[in-house]
Amino acid sequence: MSACTTCGACCASFRVDFSVEETEEQGGPVPDGLWLPLTDHTARLRGTDHSPPRCAALYGRVGERATCGIYEWRPSPCREFEEGSDACHRARQRHGLPALET
Ligand code: SF4
Ligand code: SF4
Repeated sequence: MSACTTCGACCASFRVDFSVEETEEQGGPVPDGLWLPLTDHTARLRGTDHSPPRCAALYGRVGERATCGIYEWRPSPCREFEEGSDACHRARQRHGLPALET
């Protein structure tokens, strides 16, 4: 089973920006209310630029049981983020979780 089903560290570590074309407002999947306009072309997941960052769509406790509330509708950076990547390890480290064994 993927470590991601309990982890969620990446959803509480990085800014998540994507094209406005992925927003519901413009016919895309990402629900309105969970993103903020950044530029004319770019949107940001709400909460990901807070200090500390935490995506507004993330439910549960990081490292215990964390789930994405919009999994089917999440934007491309979330779809492309790789479990076991350097960024994954950095996110987990930030939350006091061990790097995944690869
Ligand atoms: S930090 Fe890594 S293990 Fe944790 S949810 Fe993100 S991709 Fe999955
Ligand atoms: S949309 Fe889902 S997968 Fe993407 S950062 Fe937020 S909680 Fe994580």
